[in-house]
Order: sequence, then C-alpha cells, then structure tokens
Amino acid sequence: MPFASDSAADARFHAIREAGSRSPRCFRGEPDKSDSSRPISEIFGINTFNERVMREKLPGKVFRKLRQTIRRGEKLDMEIADSVAHAMKEWALERGVTHFCHWFQPQTGLTAEKHDSFLSFDDEGQAIERFSGSQLIQSEPDASSFPSGGMRSTFEARGYTAWDPSSPAFIVEGANGKVLCIPSAFISYHGEALDQKAPLLRSMEAVSQRAREILKLFGQKDPGRVTTTVGPEQEYFLIDRSFFHLRPDLMAAGRTLLGAKPPKGQELEDHYFGSIKDRVQAYMQEVEFELYRLGIPAKTRHNEVAPAQYEMAPIFEEANIAADHNQIAMEVMRRVALRHDFALLLHEKPFAGINGSGKHVNWSVQSAEGVNLLEPGDTPERNLQFLVFLVSVLKGVHKRGALIRSGVASAGNDHRLGANEAPPAIVSVFLGEQLTRILDAIERGENSQESTEKRILSLGIGKLPIISRDQTDRNRTSPFAFTGNKFEFRAVGAAFSISYPLAMLNAAVCEALEEIGSELKQRLKDGAPLNRAVMDVVKAAIVETKAVRFEGNNYAEEWVEEAERRGLPNLKTTPEALDVLTRADDKRLLKRLGIFSAEECEARYHVKMERYIKDLEIEVETVRDMAYTMVLPAAYRFQGELSNSVESAGRALAQLKLDARVSGSIKRQSDQLLGVLEQIGGLHESLESLDRAMDKAGRAKKVGEHGRLLAENVVPALAKVREHCDALEEKLPDGYWPLPKYREMLFIS
Ligand code: ADP
Ligand code: MG
Repeated sequence: MPFASDSAADARFHAIREAGSRSPRCFRGEPDKSDSSRPISEIFGINTFNERVMREKLPGKVFRKLRQTIRRGEKLDMEIADSVAHAMKEWALERGVTHFCHWFQPQTGLTAEKHDSFLSFDDEGQAIERFSGSQLIQSEPDASSFPSGGMRSTFEARGYTAWDPSSPAFIVEGANGKVLCIPSAFISYHGEALDQKAPLLRSMEAVSQRAREILKLFGQKDPGRVTTTVGPEQEYFLIDRSFFHLRPDLMAAGRTLLGAKPPKGQELEDHYFGSIKDRVQAYMQEVEFELYRLGIPAKTRHNEVAPAQYEMAPIFEEANIAADHNQIAMEVMRRVALRHDFALLLHEKPFAGINGSGKHVNWSVQSAEGVNLLEPGDTPERNLQFLVFLVSVLKGVHKRGALIRSGVASAGNDHRLGANEAPPAIVSVFLGEQLTRILDAIERGENSQESTEKRILSLGIGKLPIISRDQTDRNRTSPFAFTGNKFEFRAVGAAFSISYPLAMLNAAVCEALEEIGSELKQRLKDGAPLNRAVMDVVKAAIVETKAVRFEGNNYAEEWVEEAERRGLPNLKTTPEALDVLTRADDKRLLKRLGIFSAEECEARYHVKMERYIKDLEIEVETVRDMAYTMVLPAAYRFQGELSNSVESAGRALAQLKLDARVSGSIKRQSDQLLGVLEQIGGLHESLESLDRAMDKAGRAKKVGEHGRLLAENVVPALAKVREHCDALEEKLPDGYWPLPKYREMLFIS
C-alpha cells in the first residue's frame, strides 16, 4: 500500500488499518454477561421504577394514589411524596445506586443532569442514605447557563426541575457506579417552560380536552383522558471512531463540511435491509440490551438506504414517555458506540450526496380504553368517529402547515427538507388510494340517500384496516403520511428532541378538533341526527382541506410549483420557518391552547434562532480552519512537486531533444498543475467571500435578520468553499490527503 511515511496522511492510513482490523465486541461483561441471553421479558425494565416495583414497594394506599396520578396525568399529592421517595431510594440502594439526579431536557437538544449523592448524617453524626419527598419532587439547578431566550434575566437565574411522575424513574449504569434519574420538567421561577417536556405535556393535555369533547358527542358520558401515542423511528450513521477523530468537521459540527463523492455511494441500492455487518450487529444487540433494561421497547433494527446508515424503531408509547425514551435511547446509542469503537452520527446530513437521517414520528391518539382513534373500526359508529378524527388532522395540517414546519426547523434539517431525498419543506398529507377514494366519494355526496351504515360499508371503510396497511400503499416521499391507523410525520430531524415538533403538531390538530367539535355540536343542537351531522361536517372539511392532500412524488420539482399554486407555504430555511413563531395568529393559538404564552413564544423564537446562528458560526470557523491548515497545505505541496516535475521534464526535453509525443506529456502535466492552481485560487476567493458574508450577517441588528442573512449568503458561500476543497481532494495524491475520505468512512467497519 502506498503509505508515504512522512506525509500528513499518516494518521489517516493508520486509522484505515485500525478500522479495518477490528472485530465485533462482546457485551460489556458487567453486571452479568448471562443477562444477554435471558429472554427479553426477564430483563425488560429492571432498571426502572415501574408499576410492578411500585406495587411491590409502596403501601397499598400510596400505590393507588400514585397510579391514579400517573394514569390521569394529575398533580402529585404532596402527602405521598415522602413515602414514594423512600420506596424509590430503597429500591435504588438494592440495585447499588449511590446518587440521584433530576433528569431534564433544556433547549439544547440534549439532556441535563446534576448528580447528588444520597449521603446525609443522622442525629449522631453517622453517615446514612437519605432521599426526601421534596428532593424527589423538585430541585433547583442554577438555570443561568441554559438557553432561555431571555426568559430569565441573570439576577433571577433560578429555575426549577419538577418530577414528572408519568415517566418512570430509571437507573443509569456507569462503569463505576449507578445513578437514579428522575425525569423532570424544567421551568422558570415564574412557571415559564424552559425545556422540551413542558410544552409537550401541555399540548397533550390540550389534545385530550378537545378529543374528549368529540367523544362525548359520540355518546360517551365521561370519556377518560385521551393520550397522544408516538413511535419514533430513529435513523443514524455509524462510522469507525478512528475516522471520526481525524475529522474536525464531524467533531465540531456533526457533519462533513467537505469530502468528495465516493465512486460508489448508494447507487446500487444494496444497503437497505441488507444483511447487517457483524460489528454493527454486535453494537445493535448491546444497545438493545441496555434499552430493554431501561424499559425502552426497542423493536426493529435494520440497515437504512445509505451506506453506514441504520435504523432503530421502538414500540409506540404515550408521547411523553416516547419522547423521554427517545432522548435516553440517543444517549445510550452514543455511549455504546464508543464501547464498540464507533462514532454515532445523529446529524440530519452527515454526508453530502447520500441520504440524510430523520426521525419518522408515528403519531396517533388513543382513548382511555386504549382505542386507537385513527383506526377505522368494525362498526359504523366507529367509522364515523374515525372520519371525524381523520379530517381533524387534515384540517390541522392544512391550516397550520407553517407552524408544523417551524417545529422541525434547524440548521441540520435544512439540508434534508427540500433536498430532493427527504420530505420537502412543504407540509402535505398522503392518505393512500383507499382512503382517497372514500373521501372523494364522500365529497361527491355519493350514496347520500342511503343510510349511513350502508353508505360507510359500501364505501369500503369496513375493510380498511386490512387493506390500507398493505405495504404497497406507501408513499415514501410524503412528509406526513397515513399508514393505516396512524400518521407518520417524517420531517423531524434525526438529532431532534421529538417533544417540540409534537407540541406544534398537537397544537394544529387541537385547533381543528375544537372547530370540528363545535360545528358538530351546533348541528346536533339544530336537531340533525348524529350520522347526518357528522357526514356534513366531514364533507365540509374534505372540501376545505383538499389543497393539503398530495399523493404524488413530493421530491419532484413540479410539486413545488403545484404547491405554490395551491397556496401551501414552502418555508425553505430555518429563519423563514421560525418567523412563524412571531406571527400574531400562531402565537394566539399557542396561548389559547395553554402551550406557550406570548413571552414563551418569543423566548423559543430567540433560542432557536440563536442556535441556528451558532450552528452556522461553528461550521464557518471549522471549514476555515480545515481549509487553511489541512487542505491548502496539502495542495501547495502537490503544486510544488508538480511545478518541479514540469520544470525538470522541460529541461530533459531540451537536453535530449525528445519528440512531440513527449512534449504532449509535459503539456498534460502543466494542465494538471494549472488545474490545481485554479482550485487553490478558487478556494482562496471562496474563503474571502465567506468572510465577507459572515461580516455582513454579523452586522445585523436583530437575530431574525442575522439568521436570514446567514441562510441567504453564508450557506451558499460554505457550499462554494466545499466545491473547491472537494475538487482538490480529487486532484491531490492520495498520500497527501489528511482527512478520512467518504469511501473510507462509509465502507470500512
Ligand atoms: P409501519 O410498517 O407502518 O412502519 P409498524 O407497525 O412497523 O408500521 O410501526 C412503525 C412505528 O409506528 C412503530 O414504532 C410502531 O410502534 C408505531 N406505531 C404503531 N401504531 C401506532 C400508534 N397507534 N400510534 C403511534 N405509533 C404507532
Ligand atoms: Mg414506518
């Protein structure tokens, strides 16, 4: 192999050798290797303070009260807090836990924790373990270092974390000890939401209230709590850790800011559902082992479309728990990756030119009895009810597409949405052929003379559950697709906390449920029979929301034009999308539903815009650094050698009086030199333009303007820099290139 011993690429070749010679890792070996061969049912949830443990450890009365709090999403009765804390501590101590923490989700996209030991002293000064109800319920981290968007001025830096009893406490096992984590919401001194969880919980409550109103119209006297159910499919990349450490861009920005396309990418379509490499499978198995212990119901694993890309999908749960579990899962995946000498990439677009990663968030609503309200039923009543919920979703997405889009806005996701391989930034709904036929028939008023029962059945709804779940009735390009008994929201980015996107989606649907509910109520009050009233309201909603339904190819250029004609918003960049949070109408909605006050909206806007700005600043700094300290030096070196070569060949030509064939070879060498010189010149110019674009953006007076200028000028300037770097990568000798190449990162593991 051409290992040039004195070259900057030494480290790279070393990494290639390392990555190529690793073998699959066994389980961590601790606490008990044999655990991994036990049935999943035996290890599932053993590190969680779940209902079974509560029942076992708590006095009957306390257990019943706590369970009620959890099931109904109610406030915790302070009287039982000490008792619950005591039981939790006893359970944790039995499992070797020494510390506890309130585990919460500030607006960084990550989770936060501050550990406290159980250590305390009794009256005699003896060391003991203590954990009180108040420690369980609330803690007061210094909130001033978390993003708040101006919600807290520094003199009022207090923020509280408050236990969310609906999400089970869990134990995180480290190499040298265990920590009890208490899922918590993070709120300011005045009760404003500072985290991801609070808005999700509020939106779930809002959906529940409106959905219950509808259920009442269908004759349920006192319907219990309606929950949002969610199953997030998580896509990710795994590359060898040695490569990761040699890429400043992956380390700082999470994505490759340069890197030429490999000769083979995903063209052969040989990766999706392909057999999983041993090393990767060993990784997945250990991840699942850890997830099961934490009560996270991982269900499927497979290769994804791009090389080195994979997916993990859990069984769906109540949204709040699914969101917590997804955050924990991302963290577990990251940690286990290190143990297997992988680096986990959760960025939405780690590699240019091949598929990015998203989170397909499967979403539905479920009654207190566990009935999926988006599942067509066996009876006419059920199907009427199904139609009401279905058109409410259509209505919500139709009216609030922009708000939903704003919920998935980030610098990373901008590379995915609208990049012709992921759902576009235009939010439309795919229903599938079956349902489209049914809605079209309802719209035409077909069979309207017949009884509702007959009509619904004759429309084929009774057969829906079987037929529409057929794999062929799929549209992989839609951002929001009905898949038989739930919607799949595909525009969420892989690195996202799903809480915020869900809160925005819930808000949109909530408003529609409210409107549909009150129209129904009015008609019933006017004396219409239920069937009639429902079909009229459903029909009106179908007509109203027609523009948002799209069954074609969402990646096609024609769709962009068509969507524009239909009046659907196409918010291509994050700053455009975030502007929605400043619109009076959207703010009013969020406020009315109790999800965000006007101030909280403002704060979210600031936090998200500032994050966008910082993400881009990091990218710019990193790419400058790589260009000046890695790419250009390598290019100069080759350029110097080429010049020498051309020169000495010219001398030889003169001395030896060689013929024209040889002078052609010199001409080609000088062309090669010229090509390198051109790219070096181009790279310098593009770096200077990048600096100018940054300066201009930096002079903006407001964050929104700053963001907009970055999106308009800096993002394309970054792409230009990349173009020249990538051209140089293709021109320079392999042994001079210091950065792991795409072909290595994507194919060696
Ligand atoms: P598909 O083949 O349509 O992708 P799966 O059954 O594999 O369907 O489900 C994909 C994801 O959707 C899984 O995470 C699953 O748990 C979740 N899911 C299924 N039903 C629901 C539901 N009612 N609400 C939310 N998520 C659901
Ligand atoms: Mg799916």
